[in-house]
Amino acid sequence: LDIRSLGRRPGTMAEVHRTILTPSRIGVEMIGIEEGSEVDVDLRLESVSEGVLVTGTVCGETSGQCSRCLEPVEGTVHVFLTELFAYPNSETEQTTDEEDVHRIVDEQIDLEQSIIDAVAMELPMSPLCSDDCPGLCPQCGVRLAIADPDHGHDIIDPRWAGLAAKLDTLTDDEGNGTQTNGTGAGTQ
Ligand SMILES: [Zn+2]
Ligand SMILES: [Zn+2]
Repeated sequence: LDIRSLGRRPGTMAEVHRTILTPSRIGVEMIGIEEGSEVDVDLRLESVSEGVLVTGTVCGETSGQCSRCLEPVEGTVHVFLTELFAYPNSETEQTTDEEDVHRIVDEQIDLEQSIIDAVAMELPMSPLCSDDCPGLCPQCGVRLAIADPDHGHDIIDPRWAGLAAKLDTLTDDEGNGTQTNGTGAGTQ
């Protein structure tokens, strides 16, 4: 954004309403604003003594995948920006790190990184198609949301197979040992 119209008079303001196309995808691994999507930018630029204060909103359509069932997830992301851009040779520029406070370069401010960071912060790391998405069946991978309500598998975990066999033996012993147990209880 060009800030020349603001002059360098504190209190001067300008508004920017623009729709931009994203030059590349913005977001986190599982959800984001796709490359070439429209992003609405509504900003207020305010000249302050040390630079230009930018406040406003950025919003765009997001698409991604549910982190539980992997179905597509569509949505909208709104972020609120508040960024100070320091004038060259201002006290702020002299006393702060470029990492912490942005700079005005050639009467221009570059909001790209601020927007990318703000959108990434706002988006969930684990997006969900619905809050109670049941996810996938751990055995066969079917989506539980569309599976039979009593979907399940009668599989005995190999670790339990030995125990199951032992239980069978115990049950047999019990049949034979009823009398023995009775006698034992009597002597105690
Ligand atoms: Zn889901
Ligand atoms: Zn299954």
